[in-house]
Amino acid sequence: MRAFVQTAIGHFEERDLPPPRAAAGEVVLRVRAALTCGTDLKLLDRGHPRISLPVTMGHEACGEIADVGAGVDGFRPGERVVPGVSGACGRCDECRRGLENLCAAGHADRTWGAFAELLRVPAAVVARNLHAVPDGLPDEIAAFLDPLASVLHGWKRLGGSRGTVLIYGAGALGLLWAATARSRGVRAIVAARGGDDRLAIARRYGADVIDLASESAASIREPAEIAIDCTGSREVWSLLPDLVAPGGRVLLFGGCAPGETVAWDAARLHYSEISLIGSFHYAPADAREALRLLASGEVDPAPLLADRGGLSDLPRFLQAQRRGEGIRYAVFP
Ligand SMILES: [Zn+2]
Ligand SMILES: [Zn+2]
Repeated sequence: MRAFVQTAIGHFEERDLPPPRAAAGEVVLRVRAALTCGTDLKLLDRGHPRISLPVTMGHEACGEIADVGAGVDGFRPGERVVPGVSGACGRCDECRRGLENLCAAGHADRTWGAFAELLRVPAAVVARNLHAVPDGLPDEIAAFLDPLASVLHGWKRLGGSRGTVLIYGAGALGLLWAATARSRGVRAIVAARGGDDRLAIARRYGADVIDLASESAASIREPAEIAIDCTGSREVWSLLPDLVAPGGRVLLFGGCAPGETVAWDAARLHYSEISLIGSFHYAPADAREALRLLASGEVDPAPLLADRGGLSDLPRFLQAQRRGEGIRYAVFP
């Protein structure tokens, strides 16, 4: 099968690989649509502590079941599905405390390799985090399950909002935060550098915008109750406590590079009671809710798709994404 493989930091190539077979508990999908994601570029640029190379790239996909391993119940060949990235073990301390997104075993064998004709889905994902796609939901929209589920998990970490939410960064995740804020009736302000249509998309999702190319985020008139980092930049992590009102909360949503440290103004955190809240990945319940919101149209990610093409368009799409042109691209292998 044709597949795009990252062979080293900064390097990937198209290869012809032996087609995967479904071992016990697994399924293999014929990939119908796969989305580019900032994580693919991060992985290319700096590797990932949990992913060893070479690796077939891509992790946001909708596919149709091509092969079913022994012992798999509930899925048939031909069925359209979207896999979550991790499959919690259900037995460890984290799983027992309901923190399935933090299950270490769940991240040991992840759904990875969507930029290929066929994609193996690990047994733990099949058991807990593989979702049938409702009829009528387009493949490339269903493939947004992964980023949208992360955002829904972030909302769960916040436990709701009592005021305005400041979303710092307008990549796909920042814009999905804006879309979900609207569906919850929460006022959102998106702060990001303009220059292309991303701030227009934020407005389309009902958010006010601050264009950081010409304004400072500190120019915000009433400070937000919540600030959400969608950049993964340590400078932004360090800045956000200054942009929320006293008693405010900062959600550390975009992941910084491994090994980075962040400095905060201790007096600000203490005397203004600013809470710093981490948010990582999502649980299967978040994924089910994401698919429900996509199917009902309550969250419509279609404006985020800049272009669509075949598998061989991937290098061109990743280059454009790297230049900051377009939010997401869909390939149809
Ligand atoms: Zn992703
Ligand atoms: Zn577990």
